[in-house]
Amino acid sequence: MTPEDLKSLIRTIPDFPKPGILFRDVTTLIGHGTGFASATAMLADHARKAGAQAIAGIEARGFIFGAAVAARLGLPFVPVRKPGKLPVPVLAMDYALEYGTDTLEVDPEAVVEGHIVVLIDDLIATGGTAHAAVKLLRRAGGVVNKGLFVIDLPDLGGADRLRGEDLSVEALME
Ligand code: 5GP
Repeated sequence: MTPEDLKSLIRTIPDFPKPGILFRDVTTLIGHGTGFASATAMLADHARKAGAQAIAGIEARGFIFGAAVAARLGLPFVPVRKPGKLPVPVLAMDYALEYGTDTLEVDPEAVVEGHIVVLIDDLIATGGTAHAAVKLLRRAGGVVNKGLFVIDLPDLGGADRLRGEDLSVEALME
């Protein structure tokens, strides 16, 4: 499948989750067997080239793509979780949303000190979520050198923001 084919599998939902927002829905991509296989193969290729020793995914849609890539490469998967989900002492990071803040958490023992960790999520918009995840994974001892996304919304500047944090960023589509 070409990147254009993959793009045609994304469904756009107006006014979700709030009026005025155009939500890019990956449910239709993961619901297409060949499309999902092709997207994870492309992400895995980028991760392998980055020398990944572990794959981290952001809850929840980043788990779908990240876990598939980790399994494909035979690498450990590190879940970057929403607050209160991990049963152990965590590293936590608050980050700003359009209104208010949210928190991500990581089990510090899930990352091997000095290992190359590639971060995966379904979409990057302002980059706030991915930025917090990168900081957490680095605090846990990971060498985070690449962020991989299925979709980049370039007008929101998130990918450029991450590049300013010493990270290379790739997306399968804009
Ligand atoms: P950011 O922090 O970069 O502004 O927002 C990215 C985060 O919000 C990602 O974890 C992503 O899953 C979610 N997100 C924001 N907008 C969308 C969207 O239109 N579609 C999807 N699938 N996720 C979105």
